[in-house]
Amino acid sequence: MAIETKPGDGRKPDFASPAMGDGGGTSAGLGVPHRGWTCVGMEDGGTAAHKCEMCCTAKVRYVHIMTHPDFVGSLRVGCICAGRMEQESSAAKRREIKFKKYLKACNKWLTADGWRVSRKGNHYRNVDRCNVVVYPLPKGWWFRVVHRVTGIGWVPDAPYETEDEAKRAAFDRLPRNFPELDKRIADREDELELLWFAAGGEP
Ligand SMILES: [Zn+2]
Repeated sequence: MAIETKPGDGRKPDFASPAMGDGGGTSAGLGVPHRGWTCVGMEDGGTAAHKCEMCCTAKVRYVHIMTHPDFVGSLRVGCICAGRMEQESSAAKRREIKFKKYLKACNKWLTADGWRVSRKGNHYRNVDRCNVVVYPLPKGWWFRVVHRVTGIGWVPDAPYETEDEAKRAAFDRLPRNFPELDKRIADREDELELLWFAAGGEP
């Protein structure tokens, strides 16, 4: 397999290979960059059963999904390898701690006590000044998050297979977890405030 570098840049390619004795190589084979990776997401495997695709040794529960401009696809790796690949082990550790906190909050969000049943029989709850409702049909489970002051909200493009999946997705779209929506709400609130002053409202 040929490894191409830019002609004339004088740098040696920064590639891992099994010959380097670095944990027996990667499942992706030769020509895998060692550094310069970026984490694009994390997954919870439920148990520590996922074999790290970089070192092919560590079995991990929390998977860091890494991409690189010179690598097609992604590698699903453990925290230690992720830290090496992005050359900042503390960033990978911090990310994993944050992800565990997020999972805990998301599981708490799913538990029954916060949810009530609407007249139509759908689960809903009011949180962060938003109304969140999860409903079935068409073709699966949908959710809607609507900010109760501005009316700004969010609905998904496609349905989810289960009610719990729709609830999890709704959690990701709460303003506290979704800066884009948070900003749109804040902008609209500013606008409403200006309109109110313009209409002669007292400060
Ligand atoms: Zn590893």
